[in-house]
Amino acid sequence: RLNAHPSGRHFLQIPGPTNVPDRILRAMDHPTIDHRGPEFQALAKRVLAGVRPIFQTRGPVVIYPSSGTGAWEAALVNTLSPGDAVLMVETGHFATLWKKLAERLGLQPEFIAGDWRHGVDAAQVEARLRADKGHALKAVCIVHNETSTGVTSDVAAVRRAIDAAAHPALLMVDTISSLGSIDYRHDAWGVDVTVAGSQKGLMLPPGLSFNAVSDKALAAAKGARLPRSYWGWDEMLSANANGWFPFTPATNLLYGLAEAIDMLMEEGLDAVFARHARHAEATRAAVRAWGLELLCLDEAGYSNSLTAVLMPAGHDADAFRATVLQHFNMSLGQGLTRLAGKVFRIGHLGDFNDLTLVGTLGGVEMGLALAGVPCRQGGVQAAMDVLRATATGAAAVR
Ligand code: PLP
Repeated sequence: RLNAHPSGRHFLQIPGPTNVPDRILRAMDHPTIDHRGPEFQALAKRVLAGVRPIFQTRGPVVIYPSSGTGAWEAALVNTLSPGDAVLMVETGHFATLWKKLAERLGLQPEFIAGDWRHGVDAAQVEARLRADKGHALKAVCIVHNETSTGVTSDVAAVRRAIDAAAHPALLMVDTISSLGSIDYRHDAWGVDVTVAGSQKGLMLPPGLSFNAVSDKALAAAKGARLPRSYWGWDEMLSANANGWFPFTPATNLLYGLAEAIDMLMEEGLDAVFARHARHAEATRAAVRAWGLELLCLDEAGYSNSLTAVLMPAGHDADAFRATVLQHFNMSLGQGLTRLAGKVFRIGHLGDFNDLTLVGTLGGVEMGLALAGVPCRQGGVQAAMDVLRATATGAAAVR
């Protein structure tokens, strides 16, 4: 029967949206309230203050009712003017989409070419900025964790590169698939605008996006001339100061956000980051045991939130993913644009524990065999060996 409900839970192991934990679902299961009343005001003040530590910032964080793409646009339109040159780095599909968005807005993005298997080369950024004697480049925009490739870039190194070149460009960073999963420090790394979304490390459904904003970005916004209305930080921040929004906020998602903040803080950000690192390491052990190739070629850039795996030549990653969905009710991430059919991506971020990983990798291992992909068995065992050797007992404490 086509419409029969499959028993057990669907395994949503794409690298976002991630599984929404019951605590967050319960928190959102609440009547929508008057967004101009005192109960909302208290909620808004709570999340606007509470979200700052997640970005490791003391400054303001703007919350939009939009997907992450909106926060990309907001970062650019608030700080830049028509025709401004910006430096972007081709780490993969999402860096390419942000660059296209910049072009559509009338900016002039300069793209440092990449092979979609490495992160940002800070030395290249430094060399380009040193050559820009007239300071034509107004911003450097990078993706912290390239969700299409499973490669993380060293944001602190890019900050150092900008400083070494004594260049005044703003630093803007997309943390859509790293925030709440991989260590990220808006203030300490001197980031001017951090772009984030609700549906990955924050464990919420899609629908909220964020801009964390530095003083330098706020100053740039005063002179920026790209047209902006809905995305304007000024009205948002003046309304937020008293716990209001300039338009109808995504009230129920904000209930969920309050709960997500509590969950991340109860676990402790360092423990959250360590948990993601451990699951990523176990996943890579599985991939190696299968004899398959990681897309990421840079060990320092291995992503802790997802792993992209190359399919052996002549085998279609999408046919394999369809097999896994059909037999095991699990969704894996597809290869995007130039990687279509060539890779599959395992999401191991958000509300996730050791047995979620073992189940996920079990589905991958059985799916590989069923789809006739030439590889070895034993990946699940290799991952379990890592999990057992590094078991901390923290799971039961939560
Ligand atoms: N940037 C990164 C790194 C992403 O992973 C995504 C979505 O997966 C986006 C941007 C776009 O965000 P959205 O699809 O929420 O608009």
